[in-house]
Formats: sequence, C-alpha cells, structure tokens
Amino acid sequence: MQHIIEEAYDYTKKWLGKGKAADYIPELAKADVNDLAICITDLGGRTESVGESKKKFTMQSISKLIILITALKDVGFDEVFKRVGMEPTGDPFNSIIRLETMTSKPMNPMINAGAISVTTCIKGENAEERFEKIRETASVLLGDPDITYNKDVYKSETATGHRNRALAYMMLSSGIFDGSVEEHLEVYFKACSMMVNCEELSLMGAVLANDGVSPINGKLLIEPFHNRVVRSLMTTCGMYDASGEFAMRVGIPAKSGVGGGIMGAVPSRMGIAVYSPALDEKGNSYCGIKAMEYISSVLDLSIF
Ligand code: GLN
Repeated sequence: MQHIIEEAYDYTKKWLGKGKAADYIPELAKADVNDLAICITDLGGRTESVGESKKKFTMQSISKLIILITALKDVGFDEVFKRVGMEPTGDPFNSIIRLETMTSKPMNPMINAGAISVTTCIKGENAEERFEKIRETASVLLGDPDITYNKDVYKSETATGHRNRALAYMMLSSGIFDGSVEEHLEVYFKACSMMVNCEELSLMGAVLANDGVSPINGKLLIEPFHNRVVRSLMTTCGMYDASGEFAMRVGIPAKSGVGGGIMGAVPSRMGIAVYSPALDEKGNSYCGIKAMEYISSVLDLSIF
C-alpha cells in the first residue's frame, strides 16, 4: 500500500498552488498551502503515510461526524432526527436559505445549521461538560486521549462567526431548539477547532469502514446502526454541495473540513485521510480531492 500512496502523492503534488486556504475564519488563513499528507489505515489497524502526516490541523466540519456520533449516543436516533433532517441540500455548507423557504428544520447534520442543531441535543450542565462529551468521543475514535482544541482558531471563529449565529437564531426562533445560542455555539466552535493529524483521521476512517469496531483492539466504538447512519450521511452530504460529483468521481463515503482535511471510510476495506489546506470554491481540499480520486481509481474503491 505504501507505494500506492507515494504514487498518489506524486500525482497530487502537481496541484499544490491551486485553490486557497479558508480565510473567513482569519486564523485559518495562516495555514501552509504547500502541506500535503495522505494516509491509509487497513482493517488490521496498520497505517501507512506520506507527507505531513503528523502535523496537527483543525478538524472543522469533520467534527460534524463526531458531534453526530456523540448526540446519537447521548439521546438516540429519534431525538436527534427531531431536530435535523436526512436529505442533501445542494447548497453551500453555511447556507441559510432553506431554514426560511423549505423547512425550518435544518436539512442534514453535515451542514453548519444541521450540526449546530445536533449540538443542542448533547446534554450537560454547561458548555464545558457538553464539549467534553464530544472531545471524549473524538479521543476514542482518533486513538489519542489528549485531543484538544486550538484556542486561537476557536477565538477567531467566535469573533467572526456571525453567519453561524444567524443560523442558530433562525432555528431558535422556529422552536427547533431552546437554550442559549452563545452556549450552543461555544460547544460547536470548540468542536470545529479540535486538532487532529492525518494519521489519526485515517484511523477514524478505518473504524467507520469496520462497522464501528476498532481495527486496533477489536472494541466496538460506534453502535453498528449509528455507524450506518453516519456512513450514509457521509455519502449523501459529506462533501457539501460537491457530494454528487464526489460520489461519481470517487465513490467513497467521506467528510471534509475547511481546515483542509478529508476523511474517507471504504466499507469493509480501509480508512483514508488526506490533508492539504488549499480549498476549492466549495470549501473542499483541492489536492485532497485529487488524491482521493487517484487512490479510488487505482484500488477500485468506489462503492457504486
Ligand atoms: N467551523 C466552520 C464553520 O462553522 C466549519 C465549516 C467547514 O469546515 N465547512 O464555518
């Protein structure tokens, strides 16, 4: 497998320089756009890597999976899906339009409005307790007990995240959830700012690929039904409004984040993660998509 990811790396690095790091969260604009890492974890728990595979970056929207898994564990499927839908949108990840025109319930847990709504399901006395539940899920799935969030990115997003505030207040006014918007957003922004490296993401992809069972120690980490829910939402909504094209070109359940990471789970085969912070116009890692496309075609990984 090592030679495949090295070939994928050589193929992909031609596109370094294309795209642009996210700058609507000012702290993210400091990322090094020449970073590129690719990792694969097989179902025996072995990870192979190339590039900046140990460099930490923020999960951003990849944390939407962790928020969802935590909420499913905390309150169950029925309660979660009272507050969020199950359908793809075809709109940008931070779009507000459907909260007004289609249904006041956000369309799915993989867009900002949906993830904020799912965050409100997670119970706790205060934001710290609720975030701690998410952080613990992340630690278990990523195989790192010390997962923390990046305080600079968190502060930067808290200072500038007015669109997310707008989404949250729209949902509050429609009665989707109650409580303090600022508290819910503290939990959501901290989750987005959790730091991870490409190897850890690849391991999490392998857990999801392995029906929720750790490929390292055989423990069940995600209930199989919840694992299926998560993988199906990755397939239909994980790449925002590029999910349809990604399904055709790559065909792997995956989730991306504006920090430059993409995590894929190839059912019964492997986890794949890529990291490169320059993004395309839809907010997905430019080189990340190229690398996933290459690996999927060479190893014939499309699930379709
Ligand atoms: N923290 C980011 C936001 O809420 C996450 C978005 C993303 O990764 N697409 O805007």
